[in-house]
Amino acid sequence: MVVPQRRTSKTAKRLRRTHFKLEVTGLVTCPHCGAMIRSHRVCPKCGYYAGKEVIHHEDKE
Ligand SMILES: [Zn+2]
Repeated sequence: MVVPQRRTSKTAKRLRRTHFKLEVTGLVTCPHCGAMIRSHRVCPKCGYYAGKEVIHHEDKE
């Protein structure tokens, strides 16, 4: 059985964990309304995708 020669110090453990962070990936601004949306998805705000209206909102003018 492999046993570590010495216990990882509190500082080494904390320094390693400074790299553990959540990152928001694939987030872009909608070219139609400018809202932050996920890329390759229909914009939930204006319903546009690839320059065309895909989802029509009734409350929109
Ligand atoms: Zn939009």
